[in-house]
Amino acid sequence: MNESSLPVLLFALLVLTSGLPAAIDPYPTFGDRRIRFPDVPGYCTLKCDFHIHTIFSDGKVWPNMRVEEAVREGLDAIAITDHLEWNPHRADVPFPDQNRSYDIAVKAVEGRPLIVVRGAEITRRMPPEKDEPGHLNALFLQDANKLKQEDAFEVLKEARRQGAFVTWNHPSWLRQTPDGIARVTPLHKRLLDDNLIQGIEVANSNEYSTESLQIALDRNLAILGCSDIHAPIEWIYPGEESSHRPITFVFAKEKTEASLKEALLARRTAVWWKNSLIGRHDNLLPLLHASIAVKSEGYEWETSTFSFLPKTTVLNVRLTNSTDANFILCNVSGYRMHNQTGTFILPAHGNIPLQFNLLQKLPRVSLKFEVLNALIAPDKHAIIEFSVDAQPDNPTAVKKDRLP
Ligand SMILES: [Zn+2]
Ligand SMILES: [Zn+2]
Repeated sequence: MNESSLPVLLFALLVLTSGLPAAIDPYPTFGDRRIRFPDVPGYCTLKCDFHIHTIFSDGKVWPNMRVEEAVREGLDAIAITDHLEWNPHRADVPFPDQNRSYDIAVKAVEGRPLIVVRGAEITRRMPPEKDEPGHLNALFLQDANKLKQEDAFEVLKEARRQGAFVTWNHPSWLRQTPDGIARVTPLHKRLLDDNLIQGIEVANSNEYSTESLQIALDRNLAILGCSDIHAPIEWIYPGEESSHRPITFVFAKEKTEASLKEALLARRTAVWWKNSLIGRHDNLLPLLHASIAVKSEGYEWETSTFSFLPKTTVLNVRLTNSTDANFILCNVSGYRMHNQTGTFILPAHGNIPLQFNLLQKLPRVSLKFEVLNALIAPDKHAIIEFSVDAQPDNPTAVKKDRLP
């Protein structure tokens, strides 16, 4: 036996002793990394990351790894957005075609439940250093090579000719905006007035910009949250609680690239960043209502078999959360709570019993909660309201035969 035959023999022994595996997964998964949020009435909630780098710009991984990472997280769509003007690996990985990273990714995605969008990051300086628009992603491109032009305005006009959706990236990036305040410069105003920009990142990797959210609302831009990932995703987001990449939810009629683009153009988006949801009121409210269910479990002791217990005006309800978010809720119903101070956490994929003292026995009650981790404008939280039938669905199932 020579040295080179040893690995073959060891593999044969492994197969003989353990049985041949049905399929060998070249990318074993460590834990369940799927991001889970529900669809909303009339739309699929597509989980997307529209800002991703590979070795074909300054990223650290090959494009097919970006597909594997996204599939593990249950994402519905990603965009590969390598820099057009910054390719530090070019000496080692020469490539004549700026579409190459997308082409590799789209081949890797064949037969997988993931949409890969052709994109590119237009990588320019910002005022006062130079009168250029900073970084912008052009999504749904047909040919990224045609964007390699000197004049930034001409680049954006070419993006428009290709039907691209253009986003303003990290407007508060400290490298280009040392005070961290996103501002509409005169150049950005021209671009916005010409409808050459349609979306804006309010969250990028570890940064959130309240001014970017205000710009999105003022200029009717799609609200985006993106990873801008360069390293392997699990290095930055190891998958512990609340450790996930920034996600843009796109509320699309169906899971197709055309539907995705239509929804972006219609501004039907929201962002899932750290433990916060960010979006327009009209987009966020349906998601919150699809995510949180409220059910009555009847008035305290109402169905008890212990006849000596008094009938009370304290209504038991149970809140259930079908998402990865830990909702931070504040009771603004106007009714006092009996088992909470008024602010509490509804855990991800969990439920919580609440007691409201209505001071009278109402057949139906309106319960309102301010969602402290759901932003609909700078420093403004979403408020969700539920009309709850006080009669429990199944009174016998919630009967409390326990002594107080
Ligand atoms: Zn950038
Ligand atoms: Zn980037």
